[in-house]
Amino acid sequence: LKALAKKSGKNAQAINQAAVLGAGIMGGGIAYQSASRGIPAIMKDINQAALELGMNEATKLLNKQLERGRIDGLKMGKILSSINPSLNYESIANSDIVVEAVVENPKVKAAVLKEVEQKVSADTIVASNTSTIPISLLAKDLARPEKFCGMHFFNPVHRMPLVEVIRGEKTSQETIDSVVAYAAKMGKTPVVVNDCPGFFVNRVLFPYFFGFTRLLQDGADFVQVDKVMEKQFGWPMGPAYLLDVVGIDTGHHAGEVMAKGFPERMGKTTEDAIDVMYQAQRFGQKNGLGFYAYT
Ligand code: NAD
Repeated sequence: LKALAKKSGKNAQAINQAAVLGAGIMGGGIAYQSASRGIPAIMKDINQAALELGMNEATKLLNKQLERGRIDGLKMGKILSSINPSLNYESIANSDIVVEAVVENPKVKAAVLKEVEQKVSADTIVASNTSTIPISLLAKDLARPEKFCGMHFFNPVHRMPLVEVIRGEKTSQETIDSVVAYAAKMGKTPVVVNDCPGFFVNRVLFPYFFGFTRLLQDGADFVQVDKVMEKQFGWPMGPAYLLDVVGIDTGHHAGEVMAKGFPERMGKTTEDAIDVMYQAQRFGQKNGLGFYAYT
């Protein structure tokens, strides 16, 4: 990673202050990860309760590290004080990078990104953590598309090693180098990928999910499928449990975008198990009921 950071560091801009827009599952995790690797992060949301939740999650993660003896109280205090929750847009003005992690809605994201550009300097890099929306589409109305790219983290951010760095049509090489170096500094493994719906990981993951829902239509039992994939095949978890972790609502939405983007390749059937669960509001771990029940 150090070699990667050094190699890409040649043309990279220094990133000493980050800002994250959205303090949800992903935004909170990105701010925590950045701060814990020594790059202070402003965590901006429109909702005070989300900010409190984001800070609570960071405190919980740090407490675990403290219990395991990986950090001391001093270090914990230092990391916590370098995550700065804010409701105020002006707070992001001096950031070297702004990572947008608001809801997965193209209209909301486009409006937020345009606002961000007006709040920061011309040198600031702006990145989106979108899971599925093409970066060139989000860049369409931006004044500085060369300073914009995708920076796609995975859930939970502090555990998942990969970060997809997505090159939009007009993204400059300097922006890509800077974001690659920042991801490496955060302790992640960046991969640079081309722009398309779902980028790299979701193009691999969704045919797998849709293959799984087809198995169910053929009469398979989801518990058995999970058991085979986890216990016999050796993956960390099976597809049903993974969908519960991701969130059936998130999976449903991303699945629709992927099926629309690649109708021939995704292999989605109409009214599959993900659609049925979504309509029944069984969203997985987040609301206690998905393929499995969580009490
Ligand atoms: P979330 O619903 O947990 O959080 C979204 C947050 O954005 C909320 O706290 C909301 O108050 C805030 N927000 C909404 N509008 C805002 C605005 N104008 N300014 C500032 N904050 C605003 O969502 P999430 O799961 O963290 O997802 C965020 C993004 O990350 C989405 O684009 C999603 O596709 C992507 N993503 C999610 C996952 C996942 O597994 N959840 C994985 C990778 C990428």
